[in-house]
Amino acid sequence: MSISDLDKSIQYIKGVGPKRAQTLGRLGIHTVKDLLYYFPRTYQDRSRVEKISNLKDGDTAMVKGIVINIKSFRTRGWKSVFEASVGDGTSMLQIKWFNRPYQSEVFQVDDHVLLYGRVSLYKQSLQMVNPEYEIVTEEDSPGKSAGILPVYSLTEEMKQLSFRKLVQMVVDEYSHKVEEVFTDDIIKKRKFVPITFAIKNIHFPDSMENLEESKRRLKYEEFFLFETAMALRKRGIKEVSGYKFRIGQNVEKHIYKLFPFELTKSQQKVIREIHEDMCSEKPMNRLLQGDVGSGKTAVAVYALLAAVANGFQTAFMAPTEILAEQHYRTLSVFLKKAEVEMLLLTGGAKTKIKKENIERIKQGDIDLIIGTHALIDKGVEFKKLGLIVIDEQHKFGVMQRTRLRQKGYDKHEPDVLVMTATPIPRSLSLTVFGDLDISTIDELPPGRTPVETYRVPAKKENDAYRFIRKEIEKGRQAFVVFPLVDESEKLDLKSATVEAERLRDKVFSGLNVGLLHGQLKPELKDLIMSDFVKHKYDILVSTIVIEVGIDVPNATVMAIEHAERFGLAQLHQLRGRIGRSEHQSYCLLFGIQKSIESRQRINIMLETNDGFKIAEEDLKLRGPGEFFGTRQHGLPEFKIGDIINDYDIIKLARADAFELVKEGYKSKDSEKQILLKKIIEKFKDKLDLINTG
Ligand code: ADP
Ligand code: MG
Repeated sequence: MSISDLDKSIQYIKGVGPKRAQTLGRLGIHTVKDLLYYFPRTYQDRSRVEKISNLKDGDTAMVKGIVINIKSFRTRGWKSVFEASVGDGTSMLQIKWFNRPYQSEVFQVDDHVLLYGRVSLYKQSLQMVNPEYEIVTEEDSPGKSAGILPVYSLTEEMKQLSFRKLVQMVVDEYSHKVEEVFTDDIIKKRKFVPITFAIKNIHFPDSMENLEESKRRLKYEEFFLFETAMALRKRGIKEVSGYKFRIGQNVEKHIYKLFPFELTKSQQKVIREIHEDMCSEKPMNRLLQGDVGSGKTAVAVYALLAAVANGFQTAFMAPTEILAEQHYRTLSVFLKKAEVEMLLLTGGAKTKIKKENIERIKQGDIDLIIGTHALIDKGVEFKKLGLIVIDEQHKFGVMQRTRLRQKGYDKHEPDVLVMTATPIPRSLSLTVFGDLDISTIDELPPGRTPVETYRVPAKKENDAYRFIRKEIEKGRQAFVVFPLVDESEKLDLKSATVEAERLRDKVFSGLNVGLLHGQLKPELKDLIMSDFVKHKYDILVSTIVIEVGIDVPNATVMAIEHAERFGLAQLHQLRGRIGRSEHQSYCLLFGIQKSIESRQRINIMLETNDGFKIAEEDLKLRGPGEFFGTRQHGLPEFKIGDIINDYDIIKLARADAFELVKEGYKSKDSEKQILLKKIIEKFKDKLDLINTG
């Protein structure tokens, strides 16, 4: 059977043996198939010989020419240098090798050579440093170094050349045994090359066109499997029935009356989408994205109250205690006139009260439970949970979403609304969040002036502090944020406690300065936060605990010390704490940006307030894995697929995979059924892995 051939241990391939097999194992290559699917990192195009006169600084190219003269010498630092001038009739090129004294014996004047390397400019003339080379005859067209050569990511013990040889051997012998997954139908429709062709050409392409076609095919395959898992997951959710809420005009009117403002068009639009979900019998599984400050909470309140009006319990989960407490306060105000039993459940609450609360939730006395991940604790049971809202979804994992959903009532699935201020770049919305429907709030409430952002170099710090004082004299408030809590965590950074004292006693003497950090008792945190809201403090010195969600409209300054220590998403979230009223707000970024990356981050912050742009830049800077925390969000490591740039292929794969799952479950079209079965069987492990959510 061909399958066992591909599953053969790499150790038994000629020339490998136990020792080399171990080295290969470190790259994740254990079987023949692993090696076939170990794709090159990049390629060197040696399929064309370039004229020297066509070369430019920065090109990587191959040239063919005659050695005109050679010279070896030592630099003052006793580095040995071997230099040659090579001409091809169009122009001359200087070749240099450093510290390779033996080179002089390889190369002779009048030799015909092929050179491959990067071209650079040195003292007005073009040169190649340490190029790869081959001595050829005059007639020779590119010989063994010709073609498009694969370059692999390897460990130090392995050389490209010998690895390439191994791959060549295995490709020759085994690539035709790789089985075609797709039906002719898909292959024809998408104009794909056969899998054996793709495997061969991804390693040793005959041409750039073949390489591109092979890449497209293999990327598609990878995305297709992933999207099949997504489709199965989504189907799994949609299959069970949800509640069919009734939300009449009376209920709606009642809810709208509770808001102290008019909803924006965008808020109304997403509320319509949520309304439709809730009133259908399929469970809602929706992601609400909207930049910081766009007013997601009000939308959540709509959904929560609509469910309560239908006699259900609802849960509102936030990632931090501070945020949960804030929601509790906000909703207490909103709901003063509504008859809603509400309570706050956090990990830190006192045990006796907590026990009572848990009991009341179980009895069904409580309509709306606001809390942290304490909500998903084992002991927490609901009597009739019908709707779940998860705020700042990016701070939670897929697992937590599922765990809360499982607390739903009876055999029905509760409706789920997850909210995030980190906009989802297009391609991610088809992958990580591929099982969710998406609604977007794309405008801010009226009367907001965009936050102005400034960099504060060390010598301007005092000016910045004076500026903050002026804002406070105008009646505004300020945040000052530090990366760390106390000096034991140091790394020569100012720490919040010491700094708070310095700011309170010296810089801002006469003003009220509060201090907030993660290690304070929850009750104390809550007290400080609510005191800040009540303007008992002018300045709140804080750690990152205020990162998400905090809403204090009177605060107009966000000063971030050591801004270089924060990620782009964090900086944007922090800046989102201000600019929430009609007053002009200012974000001040303190600190020295030593690394290029931190400078890039700060520059992006100075350039734009648009959360969507920032998220895309962030994704580019950090890559998808870190952007969303791979594990946590079920984002797979694609081998060849590029989640940022392959949007078009993902889209195709997704459409086909969803179609397959849909059709495959209908009994008529047996070919699709067989394919789906085959995929589920063959890739069970992979699909399971993706499905852990
Ligand atoms: P986020 O989307 O970041 O969670 P919030 O829900 O905290 O935003 O809302 C930000 C601020 O805007 C709050 O002070 C809220 O009261 C206010 N707000 C929300 N919607 C409106 C609106 N339609 N008109 C005026 N202010 C609004
Ligand atoms: Mg919020």
